[in-house]
Parts: sequence; C-alpha cells; structure tokens
Amino acid sequence: MSEDMSRYPVRLTGDDVPMVRFMNVTKSYGDLVVLDALNLDVAAGEMVTVIGPSGSGKTTVLRMLMTLETINGGVIYVDGEPLTHMERGGKLVPANAKHMRKMRANIGMCFQHFNLFPHMTALENCMEAPVHVLGLSKDEARERSIELLGLVGLADKVDQHPSRLSGGQQQRVAIARALAMRPKVLLFDEVTSALDPEVIGEVTNVIRTLTTEHNLTMLMVTHQMGFAKEISDRICFFFKGRIEEQGPPDELFGNPQKERTQQFLSAVR
Ligand code: ADP
Repeated sequence: MSEDMSRYPVRLTGDDVPMVRFMNVTKSYGDLVVLDALNLDVAAGEMVTVIGPSGSGKTTVLRMLMTLETINGGVIYVDGEPLTHMERGGKLVPANAKHMRKMRANIGMCFQHFNLFPHMTALENCMEAPVHVLGLSKDEARERSIELLGLVGLADKVDQHPSRLSGGQQQRVAIARALAMRPKVLLFDEVTSALDPEVIGEVTNVIRTLTTEHNLTMLMVTHQMGFAKEISDRICFFFKGRIEEQGPPDELFGNPQKERTQQFLSAVR
C-alpha cells in the first residue's frame, strides 16, 4: 500500500529548519527492515556521528542522503527541501531527474578508501568535478582547489599523485575534493578506519576546523569511538534501524542510559 504523502510538508519553513531531517524514513530489503521509521535531525553547522552494531543501518543513512538507495517510506529534507520528492498540486510526489540533480549537489561524501583518481595529481583530483559537473572554468577550479588544499594543510603537495602521499594526506585530499563542490552537508563514512593510528590526528584536526571555522554540517559513521568523541557535537547510537539513544559525546560515552548502549560501548572499548 502506498503511503499517504499529504501528511508530509512540501518544504520545511520557519526559524529552526534543520539542515537535514529524516522524517519517518523506512528502508527495507525484502523482509529486512534496515531503517524503521527513522527520525533524525542535523542542525546547520552541527557535527553528528552515528555509532552502533554492525547491520544497524548506519551506512544506509549516508547512502540514502547520497540518493544511492530508494526510499520505502517517509521523506528526507535537506535545507528544508525534500531530497527525493517534489511538490505537485500541494502534495509530494517522486522527484524528477532535474530536482534530484539539484539536491544531490548539496551533499558531499568522503569514504574509507579515499577513492581518489590515481592518475591525477592532488590538484587535478580536486578540479575534476567543479569543471565537469559545475562547469567552472579551469582557472576558477584551480584557484578554489589550491585554496582548499591549503585549508587541509597540503599546500606543498598539490602536484603529487596519490601514490606519493600517506594515507592521512590522501584522506585530506579527498576532503578537499569534496569541499570543492561547495556542499551544504558533508558525509564521512569510516574516514579514519583505513589509517594508521598516528595519522588519525591529521584528519581529526581538519574536520575540527571545518566544524569550528566553516560552519559546515557533517554526518559521520565510524567504529572509532575516540575519534567520534573528540569531534562530534552529538552522538546517535543506532540499534536495528532506530535511534536507541543520543546525546553529547560526554554524556553518551560517560553516562549511557540505555542497557543496549551500555552493552555496545563495553563491547567496543
Ligand atoms: P551498518 O552500516 O550499521 O553496518 P548497513 O546500513 O550497512 O549497516 O546495513 C544494514 C543492513 O542492511 C545489514 O543487515 C545489511 O546486510 C543490509 N543491506 C545493506 N545493503 C543491502 C542490499 N543492497 N541488499 C540487501 N541487504 C542489504
């Protein structure tokens, strides 16, 4: 049975519109319900980290924001506008390709394995999408990319190929590349999991700068609790496709209220 879409606003308005809102979002694969009527808001400028057992739906949240997965129920809003729906006659209907393209441009993503183009330099990696997707001139894209590589501390590595860079440096190029598209929301999927412990700090510092100085909205999935604790404004503990418990890192890690959170944290520590 299809859902009654008239219960969802065609756009969010008012003073406190979140940058991201999952409203009643359901995702299933056959009989397996992965997200179960999920409600999750991320405020503009907020850094939210999702933790939880394997299979609890963490990555699915990011994949849905990237529009890599179809939605089975509910609506996702980005900056007040529905991500995969659009308004027709006062009601939401599935979005057309043009709307999807416009909305996708709001979201950037960084992955565990960097996914840089190996045959391109750091600078060329950053310039690629601004030139080919946004239609910037090469000069504009170069200027923007050099500035962002500077922001992530790699001003002296712009002409290096990924194979000549350390894992931490490659991940910082990947962050600069995502930022070059000027997304409103940046997603991080296990961005420190493939890194040696001694270089995690480099990536942490960059992400911290983005939070404190650039007011970017970020949503992250990680298994590394120390990293999550250090840089997040809020932690959401997922269990079976729902938020079991959420709060500031000090509270959630220091004094978890729910038994499932306590069990999970004592198992991963
Ligand atoms: P987490 O990131 O918390 O480990 P995921 O969001 O990756 O969890 O996956 C949640 C559940 O959805 C898992 O049980 C996984 O096996 C299942 N799943 C993910 N993608 C697919 C798919 N394409 N087809 C079938 N099941 C999937």
